[in-house]
Amino acid sequence: MPSLTGAQIIARTLGDLDVNVVFGIVGIPVVEIAEEALNLGIKYIGFRNEQAASYAASAYGYLTGRPGVCLVVGGPGVLHAIAGVGNSFANAFPLLLLAGSSESHLTSRGAFQELDAISLLTPHTKLSLRPASPDLIPPAIANAYRSSFYGRPGTGFVDFPADLIQGVFGEQDGIPNAKNVALPPKGGAEKDRILEAVRLLKGAKAPLVVVGKGSAYAKGEVMIRELIEKTSIHFLPTPMGKGVLPDSHPSNAASARSTALKLADVVLVLGARLNWILHFGEAPKWNPNARIIQVDISHDEIGRNQGDASLGLVGDIAVITEQLLDALNGWRWDTRVSDYTQRISESKRKNEAMAASKAKVDKLPMTYERSFSIIKTVLDRLSPPHEGGIVYVSEGANTMDISRSIFSVEHPRLRLDAGTYATMGIGMGYAIAAHAAYNNSKFPLSTKKKIVALEGDSAFGFSAMEVETMARYQMDVLIFVINNGGVYHGDSADGDEWLKLQRATAEGSTYKGGGLRSWSLGWEVGYEKIAEACGGKGFLVRTPKELERATEEGFRANVPVVVNVIIEAGQSTKLEFGWQASTKKPTASP
Ligand code: ADP
Repeated sequence: MPSLTGAQIIARTLGDLDVNVVFGIVGIPVVEIAEEALNLGIKYIGFRNEQAASYAASAYGYLTGRPGVCLVVGGPGVLHAIAGVGNSFANAFPLLLLAGSSESHLTSRGAFQELDAISLLTPHTKLSLRPASPDLIPPAIANAYRSSFYGRPGTGFVDFPADLIQGVFGEQDGIPNAKNVALPPKGGAEKDRILEAVRLLKGAKAPLVVVGKGSAYAKGEVMIRELIEKTSIHFLPTPMGKGVLPDSHPSNAASARSTALKLADVVLVLGARLNWILHFGEAPKWNPNARIIQVDISHDEIGRNQGDASLGLVGDIAVITEQLLDALNGWRWDTRVSDYTQRISESKRKNEAMAASKAKVDKLPMTYERSFSIIKTVLDRLSPPHEGGIVYVSEGANTMDISRSIFSVEHPRLRLDAGTYATMGIGMGYAIAAHAAYNNSKFPLSTKKKIVALEGDSAFGFSAMEVETMARYQMDVLIFVINNGGVYHGDSADGDEWLKLQRATAEGSTYKGGGLRSWSLGWEVGYEKIAEACGGKGFLVRTPKELERATEEGFRANVPVVVNVIIEAGQSTKLEFGWQASTKKPTASP
């Protein structure tokens, strides 16, 4: 073996594991790892903040089904990347985090960016390792990589001391190659439990299937579709379970969500936790007598909250769905045994009519619903949803909630949002991850897709500088900043306070008005200029016509585009305090 640096051994190991993209930020000592990875033909995407890089790597793991890799410096680099570690844990996204730390012999002496990252990260990762010698580098990386996506996905972490990265090693060090890690084996559930689930489903008056993002990650779409179509059972996707079955599917009960949950008496939950997103499986949102059959890869999830441990099915969703289909043996639910279908249809009709009328409210500044319906109309024309040519990324409390039901998703893994942690700030990282995954000849499912990010102005601010990353790597991401001048409902004083404050500052006087609220952000900030400054395109829009034009031009552009959409402030479904109902200005702190 010719002599190799530690950095070369690390890069070679990533190559042995078929890693084809590394997300990160370089600095001493990890810059050498990134350079060696590039020398081996591994793509490296350099970010502006480790937080966004770590979010991107975890989303890349979710989309591709193999761990996304993030490379950071020690100390502050690791601290920033902890955001992604928490996000990977909370969402069960596979992430391999690699960090460089200070020299071994300087430990505890106040070395450059010194941090005991192993102690810090061990409780939040599936495996945290610091190889003590060069021969342990390949097995440490391979083990952390494997453990991050075997079982319930999470983070594997490897910390490399600078002396190991920069050292030169030869034959005498006995450095092995890493064995490639195969996709995880898939298990099924016990026969008795399958039969009990089938017995319950067959006896149900109001059965429901909940489809979570675990189904998307498990690539369970083919089996789940067969289950729904053979049995005629209604299904309800969770926010990121959208697309496992087409939103346009007649059995989709999403627009009758409350009715479907409240009345269901037997619920088959495929890859979704009974956490806050599903109201813990509890009344009043759920029927208190519902029997809940959870299907999950993790035993830890079974029986949690209102799940019935005796009904839990542990294993891979695609395998278990196939077992259920076999045991159901062609059985179809008779919709006439109750008025469940009728109640769902009524509720769908009512809710969809209400949504359609909201989308028509034609005033200036535009509403959320009107802006989204314009964007959707243009995008649907340019890329019909059944073709699956768009990946939607969405964040910001109202932007995410309101857009979710407006933008339909017809194929799996085409929608990413703030997820289990409700993490605001994921948007730009996730958009870069989606671009890297779907525009990458090495990703097996890859067909080129347009990435569209729907961002609240507050959410965009968390990682807006990553627009420069997109421009640098020629990523043609289309970003809409839905701008109401603040967090949640924006500045409810219609920018009034902000403008008075600005004017007073300009005049050198002191403004003694009500002042900014905690949710106020700059009024009508020119977010589109960020794209222009970085080599992309920007549009400031206020009217439907301007928005239509910007959407079409933005879609066709081959650079990142920010469309700054000025919408009505003070309107939302979130954070309504008592005082807002009666008066525009707060009289007391909420
Ligand atoms: P959602 O946000 O859509 O409600 P969650 O993230 O809460 O979904 O739940 C996803 C669940 O899917 C997790 O509990 C995870 O363990 C599970 N899961 C992930 N992969 C698989 C798989 N291949 N088979 C079965 N369950 C899986």
